[in-house]
Amino acid sequence: MTQIMRMSALYAPTLKEVPNDADIVSHQLLLRAGMMRKSATGLYSFLPLGWRVIKKIENIVRQEMDAIDAQEIMMPELQPSELWHESGRWDDYGPELMRMEDRHGHGLCLGPTHEELITDLVRNELKSYKQLPLTLYQIQSKFRDEIRPRFGLMRSREFIMKDAYSFHASQESLQQTYDDMSDAYARICERLGLDFRPVQADSGQIGGSVTCEYHALADAGEAELASCTCGWAANSEVAACLPHPTEYAETELKKIETPGVHTIAELAAFLNCPESSTVKAMVGKDAEGNPIALFVPGDHELNELKAERVIDGFALMSDEELEAAGLPKGSIGCVGLPAGVRIVADSSLQGIAHWVVGANEDGFHYVGAEQGRDFTVDVWADLCTVREGDTCPECGKPVSMCRGIEVGQVFQLGTKYSQNMGATYLDENGKEQPFIMGCYGVGVSRCMAAIVEQHSDEYGIAWPASVAPAHVCVLPLVVGDDVVQPVAERVARELAELGVEVVLDDRKERPGVKFAEADLMGWPLQIVVGKRGVANQELELKVRSTGEKSTISFDEYAEALA
Ligand code: ATP
Ligand code: MG
Ligand code: MG
Ligand code: MG
Repeated sequence: MTQIMRMSALYAPTLKEVPNDADIVSHQLLLRAGMMRKSATGLYSFLPLGWRVIKKIENIVRQEMDAIDAQEIMMPELQPSELWHESGRWDDYGPELMRMEDRHGHGLCLGPTHEELITDLVRNELKSYKQLPLTLYQIQSKFRDEIRPRFGLMRSREFIMKDAYSFHASQESLQQTYDDMSDAYARICERLGLDFRPVQADSGQIGGSVTCEYHALADAGEAELASCTCGWAANSEVAACLPHPTEYAETELKKIETPGVHTIAELAAFLNCPESSTVKAMVGKDAEGNPIALFVPGDHELNELKAERVIDGFALMSDEELEAAGLPKGSIGCVGLPAGVRIVADSSLQGIAHWVVGANEDGFHYVGAEQGRDFTVDVWADLCTVREGDTCPECGKPVSMCRGIEVGQVFQLGTKYSQNMGATYLDENGKEQPFIMGCYGVGVSRCMAAIVEQHSDEYGIAWPASVAPAHVCVLPLVVGDDVVQPVAERVARELAELGVEVVLDDRKERPGVKFAEADLMGWPLQIVVGKRGVANQELELKVRSTGEKSTISFDEYAEALA
């Protein structure tokens, strides 16, 4: 018997109005349906119904991990900076890492991911090749000081992730676990009711080379995906560098003034970038062959800049690369440059869709110059984009573009962490070898948003049964009378006895309010108990996802239960 949830006692405050700062459907509906509340920017509290959904998603993930012999553990959220110094990521990770000190002055961070901690956890006790392979995982809050937290659970600063890590003595063994994980990820997406696509991806901050992202397809997704009918699919960071058949429109060079902009910090201020962002650059040649630099405000995670359309050949450079190219570190404008391109920003000065090209004069820049016509690029980094109609690298057919929500990613890490952190095992010959590692993440709370993006309509959420906060909502249209209420109570009890999760709307509300809220909260099945129905010995059923209504007699209902 499951516990019947009574709406009269349930803490699920609903909202009639769409909250101001919620601009995508999942964010709006999760707030409106009383599933969660914002506590601060990028920080959310889950209310009883929302938390039930999270636990269901977690359990599906847990079952699929257990099924491939991954073992659940729990590591601390707070991590010592020493381990991050060992891996080299204390310096590399950038401002997304939430850093702090304890009262003794020891550096700490709130874990955005746990490669360091887990490598340290096993390095002194996982000793022999005979103990390998080993996969450990946890489901836990992660912290990332996102440059722009937004869209509710989609990009928050604290979020729930399942993170798994595997340790191997050979590449073949890593490949086996990676394949098992990939299959498990596909099953997780299916069980969550997600229309998804695995795509080739870039390994970003984590390191490693072989990696695949799992995207829930949705227009609200932040990622741009390219795919081809031949099965090839990649996110736009990777799809990159495909031949672009599209010609650039001729644009007029327009002079704009950027007075007082001489340093990276001044440029960031001029471009109205958040303080935490950094400005990077790439280097090329202008039409006369003079060295030039393009600069972009932003963070390590370029997709957060939400580039509408990045120009061909646009790329990023680190300070070191700038230095290697003989350009003064931390300088912009004409400083150290004889002539040429200088600043990149988009028209709203928030991203990189449009860009500004510098004139030969200090403090003056042009808008709308064109690569090839006005300059060429020498130094390439890994950022480019792809668009509709570009050529598929596998089969040569034109690719099509769509948007996705990254709900998970699997990586083959290799020995980056084990080598940096001295995590070794003894092989068959008694020789020390660094572990070959893999890591695998699922954004549990982001999945909840992705599910709502795909399973909702103008009336509200339509949860897939696998993750719904309850399966059935019993709706007595009158409460407190001795005809309808006893029937509703009986139906709720009988279903609960069968293990069905039932919510009983026992509030003294108008039927219209009850119907609207049931549709908003998204119970997969509604059972309506009204006066006339009871007189006719009938119950009314409504399937939320299809809107399909039917009537069944008490007898048919009893048969169905049996
Ligand atoms: P993104 O590209 O969206 O920034 P990521 O590639 O940085 O995500 P990973 O390091 O691969 O994220 O983390 C594993 C999973 O954690 C992601 O696939 C995603 O589902 C989830 N995730 C990452 N960042 C966030 C966030 N800020 N809010 C909610 N979920 C997140
Ligand atoms: Mg990220
Ligand atoms: Mg990503
Ligand atoms: Mg990722």
